Amino acid sequence: MIPVTKPFLPPKEEVFQLLEGVWERKWLTNNGPLLNEYEIRLKEKLKLNHLLVTNNGTIALQIAIKALGLSGEVITTPFSYVATTSSLVWENCKPIFVDIDKNTFNIDPEKIESAITPKTSAILATHCFGNPCDIDAIKLIADKHDLKIIYDASHCFGTQYKGKSVLEFGDISTLSMHATKLIHCVEGGAVVTKDPDLLKKMAYMRNFGHDGPESFAGVGINGKNSEFHAAAGLAVLKYSDTILESRKNQKEYYDKALVNLDVQTQLDTKDSSPNYSYYPAVFSNEERALGAVKQLNLNEIYPRRYFHPLLSSLNYVDVKNQLPIANKIAKSILCLPMYYGLSKVEQDFISRILLRSKNYGV
Ligand SMILES: *Cc1c(COP(=O)(O)O)cnc(C)c1O
Repeated sequence: MIPVTKPFLPPKEEVFQLLEGVWERKWLTNNGPLLNEYEIRLKEKLKLNHLLVTNNGTIALQIAIKALGLSGEVITTPFSYVATTSSLVWENCKPIFVDIDKNTFNIDPEKIESAITPKTSAILATHCFGNPCDIDAIKLIADKHDLKIIYDASHCFGTQYKGKSVLEFGDISTLSMHATKLIHCVEGGAVVTKDPDLLKKMAYMRNFGHDGPESFAGVGINGKNSEFHAAAGLAVLKYSDTILESRKNQKEYYDKALVNLDVQTQLDTKDSSPNYSYYPAVFSNEERALGAVKQLNLNEIYPRRYFHPLLSSLNYVDVKNQLPIANKIAKSILCLPMYYGLSKVEQDFISRILLRSKNYGV
């Protein structure tokens, strides 16, 4: 059986060794020493000044929305994981979807401006599959209309834009370190900002609003992560370069093997080096994609229709704008299996079945 993804598991002993100290200290959570170290190591690795680890990537988004005081309408992408939209609605903001670019699958900046109204407070965009948005164009629009920018950079550990971590951009960027993400700590996330005041605010928001043992600076939530997660995260982080490198090799291997397949892959954004956290393949239409799924499933290979359905089809959103490109891509896209340890032999096998599926008709 070949699933779409498998979590990376570091050597057990390395996690257990870190946990020894937890037993000695009897300090299990509440921003303990391992969590602190995890934050420091993440900042070093990603060359970032301000980062806070949270208990997942969804709470990271909610803290970001709350810290920026967003309200009213927020312009966002329909082509992302549900948490991008649900976190807006949960925080009483109204998502306004605009269409995506057909090559990068990211929000199309040209469609943003006409969706802005006096109620618009921000843009929440996802760097889809770890490939950066058109950051410069989005910044110009946001500055012109005095809007905040949040990037859902859940997929973006290791992604670079103009030689820096893509997490440096926007007022706040959020990261997910869920087990299925490229680099993980079982369950976890982070908020990143360049603004030290915003960081302070998010730090108390992450901890129930506490700014001292008996004082509260404002409203908060429990966004803290545990020593167990930090231990797992530290053990995984040690292998991040190896994981990223192997992903790049796997991406290039698929590119070569599938050169004669009738699919479109994701175009790398200019000036970026994506992390290739997924291998999306867009077929000519939905029937063709489902035909390929059928052939793969017969061989116990399970790609995923990611992202499908489109977020604009959720039963708690309104849709104002036409989204023809997102609709077409969501119906005809498959993410192919890609995870640390997937072998070339397996990639060959998957590729052969895909190439043969061209001839089966549907
Ligand atoms: C995974 C993911 C999230 C949610 O992160 P969790 O850590 O699972 O809460 C949000 N947005 C996107 C785009 C994701 O892929």
